[in-house]
Amino acid sequence: MAETFDYDLFVIGGGSGGVRAARVSGRHGARVALAESSRVGGTCVIRGCVPKKLMAYAARFRDAFEDSVGYGWNPGEPTFDWATLIANKDREIDRLNAAYIRGLEAAGVAVFHDRAVLVSPNRIRLAGSGREVTARTILVATGGHPNLDTGIPGGDLAISSDEMFHLPALPKRILIVGAGYVAVEFAGIMNGLGAETTILHRSGEILRPFDVSIRDAMQAAMEKRGIAIRLGDRLASIERTADGLLARTRGGAAIAADHVLMAIGRTPNTRGIGLVEAGVRLDGNGAVIVDAHHRSSVPGILAIGDVSNRINLTPVAIREGQAVADNLFGGKDVVVDHTGVPHAVFGIPEIGVVGLTEEEAKAGYAALDFFETTFKPMRNQLSGRDERVLIKLIVDAATDRILGCHIIGDEAPELIQLMAVALKLGATKAGIDATMALHPTVAEEIVTMRTPSRSWRRETAAS
Ligand code: NAP
Repeated sequence: MAETFDYDLFVIGGGSGGVRAARVSGRHGARVALAESSRVGGTCVIRGCVPKKLMAYAARFRDAFEDSVGYGWNPGEPTFDWATLIANKDREIDRLNAAYIRGLEAAGVAVFHDRAVLVSPNRIRLAGSGREVTARTILVATGGHPNLDTGIPGGDLAISSDEMFHLPALPKRILIVGAGYVAVEFAGIMNGLGAETTILHRSGEILRPFDVSIRDAMQAAMEKRGIAIRLGDRLASIERTADGLLARTRGGAAIAADHVLMAIGRTPNTRGIGLVEAGVRLDGNGAVIVDAHHRSSVPGILAIGDVSNRINLTPVAIREGQAVADNLFGGKDVVVDHTGVPHAVFGIPEIGVVGLTEEEAKAGYAALDFFETTFKPMRNQLSGRDERVLIKLIVDAATDRILGCHIIGDEAPELIQLMAVALKLGATKAGIDATMALHPTVAEEIVTMRTPSRSWRRETAAS
């Protein structure tokens, strides 16, 4: 007799990926349960992309007030109220959280506001209630958590991005350790809202995985806006002082701050939930090792999103959750395409990129043409703002295919979403050139770059 289970699918983790998998599986007719020990919505909705972007919008109003003067406005001396921003942001997060729960319930998903622990490959214990349930398939969608460098004296005085969304007041001074997504985004927010902002970074360059042109231009833009960037140095200690914190670096600097934000990457949430005990294999970073169909080393246990640490972005987790649901219960055989994924950094200015960086292209191709332009956007003419847009296209000279597009400037993420479509459809430089410009826009510069700014051939390696 076939084994019977309480559920066809039990999803551990109610973030973007887990919710999508549960909801779609429920709609396919499966009996589904989901457990979330925090708030449904996960990192992105509750303590990541969404509140971050709302705060970035808030920070960008500083530019709008300043720029308006050149257009004839007199905005006076704008004031900013942190408590209003946090309260309104929280209301929006509450709305999204409720919408996520409603969506699950409408799809017939049983939601447990509890911590789920694997007891065996098909059995789960809900830690709070002690109840045990069984499921034919278990989907691990537990995401990750921010790393905190607790190995240094006073390390426990530092905070992570989680706490940034609920600080009691806008910091006057903030030290941000790291120079990846989180660091650059919060540097923009804090600087824009008026905090004295310092980045402390162990390497010689910010945003290390990004294209060299983007890295250089972003660093210059951030410094011009008054963000201090200290490279090639590490945090040594943090101590409490009469008026806040004092961070000391190995390089001998002493930096006073109200908060020290550690923005040094994230670790998959795989510990303490019975995964290893059930035989699930993890990689060196603690991520669940999965195949193209999100299957772990244990039959019946799957994993999606940040916990499998492939491309740690919300839309990727959602796509993976959709694929799992469609494959398990929708009669499909979907393999998620992890290529050509657009990335954005919602700093000030913003960054949008898709495809290969210059370094990656040189490693994989023999002949490249680079089309690169920097220009002052029309909006900055009357305002007098001295900030430029950068657009870079990387073209495979042999096939004319666009390999990468990299943009810095306001609305770069919006532009890059559409460039990602073009690249997915196999855009060539000839196709870009044949596209009529839309004037006057920033984006028209993408279709009006006629002559390569540089060419590179592997034989000569001449740039
Ligand atoms: P990240 O982008 O991977 O950057 C980590 C930064 O910390 C790097 O600058 C890295 O330096 C540095 N670092 C790593 N370990 C360190 C250590 N032990 N001591 C000192 N510095 C260290 O990580 P993140 O900014 O924390 O963001 C986490 C992830 O969340 C991202 O990778 C991304 O997947 C996601 N996220 C995405 C967005 C978005 O899509 N806009 C926004 C926020 C977060 P090196 O350069 O030297 O390695």
